[in-house]
Amino acid sequence: LRRRIIRAEKMEVVGHLAASISHEVRNPLTVSRGFMQLLLQSERMNYKDKQYIQIAIEEIDRAEAIITDYLTFAKPAPEHVEKLNVKTEIERVIDILRPLANMNSIEIQTSLLPFAVKGERQKFQQCLLNVMKNAIEAMPNGGTLRINVSIDKDYVLIHISDTGVGMTKDQIERLGEPYFTTKGAKGTGLGMMVVYRIVETMKGDLFIHSEVGEGTDVYMYFPSYYKSDVEKFSQKNEKAIPI
Ligand code: ADP
Ligand code: MG
Repeated sequence: LRRRIIRAEKMEVVGHLAASISHEVRNPLTVSRGFMQLLLQSERMNYKDKQYIQIAIEEIDRAEAIITDYLTFAKPAPEHVEKLNVKTEIERVIDILRPLANMNSIEIQTSLLPFAVKGERQKFQQCLLNVMKNAIEAMPNGGTLRINVSIDKDYVLIHISDTGVGMTKDQIERLGEPYFTTKGAKGTGLGMMVVYRIVETMKGDLFIHSEVGEGTDVYMYFPSYYKSDVEKFSQKNEKAIPI
């Protein structure tokens, strides 16, 4: 028994380490990238050398993307399952993504209600971030990101839609497969894998509807924390519930 406890403690330390890596590693990556950017502007560099530096920058961006898809909200403190307000958590993620949305001329429309679900905060936020980031990246020439919260049966439904490039049937099927990406070196193909895993641990469900050239709808279901939310909302708005 004693040995088991020590092992568990060690595991916990490893967990914290992984979490702080996202913060500790990001800074040196940013600094390195900055210096390489400077080198690119140097007149003493020949074409070939600049190509090497360009590759190094792309690889740094790739490392940065992997950290983003896995560890954006990772904190050195241990995580625990708690009651989460979906409205608050969605708003937090929107704040983080707003600069990216602005860069792509994307309008964000929301209709949020403060329903409660059960889960680990940083995982839930990571899951929302990965889906919303994909939506934004699907609209390089602008569009609308819409986030809607409602109750469907015993579930809180988070509906995230974009007016972006959409997906083929084959792409939808491959979604969540590790390293499946259509974004070349810029993609990790890990974002949706993380999303599916988190949704599963929260005993939720996820559905995708997408049309090429039209956009994508992601429906995320999480068990409602309060039965009263389900009863109150279902009674009053029976006809207003989507799907
Ligand atoms: P990444 O974003 O790094 O490519 P993801 O696992 O997040 O990896 O997504 C995998 C692929 O699924 C993307 O490369 C893209 O082709 C497709 N995809 C995901 N979300 C959307 C979306 N909202 N619109 C269009 N394509 C999407
Ligand atoms: Mg992604």
